[in-house]
Amino acid sequence: MSDVERRQDRAPVPTDWTYAPAPEARDIVTIEERYGHYVGGEWLEPAETYTTLSPATEELLAEVGQATPAEVGAAVDAARDAYENGWSALPGSERAKYLFRIARVLQERSREFAVLESINGGKPIKESRDVDLPLAAAHFFYYAGWADKLEYAFPNRRPGPVGVAGQIIPWNFPLLMLAWKIAPALACGNTVVLKPAETTPLTALLFCDVLRQAELPPGVVNIVTGDGRTGAALVQHPGVDKIAFTGSTDVGKAIQRELAGTGKRLTLELGGKAANVIFDDAALDQAVEGIVNGIYFNQGHVCCAGSRLLVQESIYEQTISKLRRRMETLRVGDPLDKNTDIGAINSRQQLEKITELVESGKEEGAEIYQPPCRLPERGYWFAPTVFTNVAQSYRIAQEEIFGPVLSVLTFRTPDEAVEKANNTAYGLSAGVWTEKGSRILWMAQRLRAGVVWANTYNRFDPSSPFGGYRESGFGREGGLHGLEPYLELES
Ligand code: NDP
Repeated sequence: MSDVERRQDRAPVPTDWTYAPAPEARDIVTIEERYGHYVGGEWLEPAETYTTLSPATEELLAEVGQATPAEVGAAVDAARDAYENGWSALPGSERAKYLFRIARVLQERSREFAVLESINGGKPIKESRDVDLPLAAAHFFYYAGWADKLEYAFPNRRPGPVGVAGQIIPWNFPLLMLAWKIAPALACGNTVVLKPAETTPLTALLFCDVLRQAELPPGVVNIVTGDGRTGAALVQHPGVDKIAFTGSTDVGKAIQRELAGTGKRLTLELGGKAANVIFDDAALDQAVEGIVNGIYFNQGHVCCAGSRLLVQESIYEQTISKLRRRMETLRVGDPLDKNTDIGAINSRQQLEKITELVESGKEEGAEIYQPPCRLPERGYWFAPTVFTNVAQSYRIAQEEIFGPVLSVLTFRTPDEAVEKANNTAYGLSAGVWTEKGSRILWMAQRLRAGVVWANTYNRFDPSSPFGGYRESGFGREGGLHGLEPYLELES
């Protein structure tokens, strides 16, 4: 017997536990050589293009349009036309049918989308398969349910659509962010021009095929690709009634300045520097899983990542030693391998940003730990990292790193935990780990964060509103609150 050894009456055990890869087949996906912009239900040949690649291998994947202001204008015109000639006047129950169809097609084609998401974005297939795709479909299902119940959601008001929504999304959850934006907009009777991030356009372009399958009327959703210049052209276009943006705080502020005085509506979902607070009565092994999920999920490219760990002093040594042991088991590598925990960093620029901040942490005096792991030679990679001995003033404790890098601080009392957790310019999310229910409520009342998770982390649900305070932006996405930015509510 080659790999299993029988020892008398004992159960067979493998003689060799070396790792065997479990790659997901990529032939379910067809990537075109060149893509245009999806405008008015047709593919518009782009005037300019750029090349999108796989961050795990640096393999060039496709030529994609770099939309000019004129092409953005054509998309806005198509959206206006669709808005005025049918979509906004369609009964909610009819709009709901299209959203249900989109949700079902996404479910049917989920493996194809998951593989493409991992190829173009670098995230592990187990995450795109088990998190991004199910949640994207769930958002369409959820908002399909609201489309014909808007008067019940907002009693004594007359809810009506806003008009044409310009939506700009980032690269960390490309299809999921698209779903967060498009589903409520359509449910409320708006039409859309969406710009995916420069580095991750492919699932948004494949989504156009879903729109065709669902027979969505032409012009209701238009997708233009390109870099920040395309986003800026969309923001500036006078035909857009509302901008929804997810991305960096700097760009969010620039958009807010640009829109001041124009009367256009705006929602901003920006960065974060969340505290994940572990009390000494917490179930420690579960908390360690929560810490790992909080910061290493999606390579830490998560606006609500638990990037600041606050540990009660009495359990500090024990927590760090368990965390290090757990980090040694994290598998970094091929995003399409079903065993991979940490995939590729999304782009060279992001890798440079992470590296620069990590260097600053070392220079400022923090102690770095990275488990032994072999990173692939090609592509963009960063080992899971934890910094101890971190002062609150260090850049790694203040700035959003947006990578697999955790900064650990300690506290003695609940008051101190609150003070340290709130010592940030951001206010998007936080986590609390304790066995005491009363302490969870006490903390949740004091933490200045849009979302507070208790004894869990990075949980998302379409029925739950998400959004921040202060430099994390304003407006809510998800839940009933997520309808409001897309509605005029007359008394
Ligand atoms: P950006 O804010 O630049 O990107 C977000 C989106 O905005 C992208 O589609 C981008 O296009 C577009 N954009 C860029 N400039 C403009 C502009 N002037 N007007 C309108 N749209 C614009 O984020 P980055 O990709 O540069 O990431 C930088 C940092 O931002 C990260 O390190 C992280 O800290 C933070 N971030 C936060 C996110 C969140 O979810 N809150 C998501 C992504 C990043 P393009 O892709 O071409 O740049």
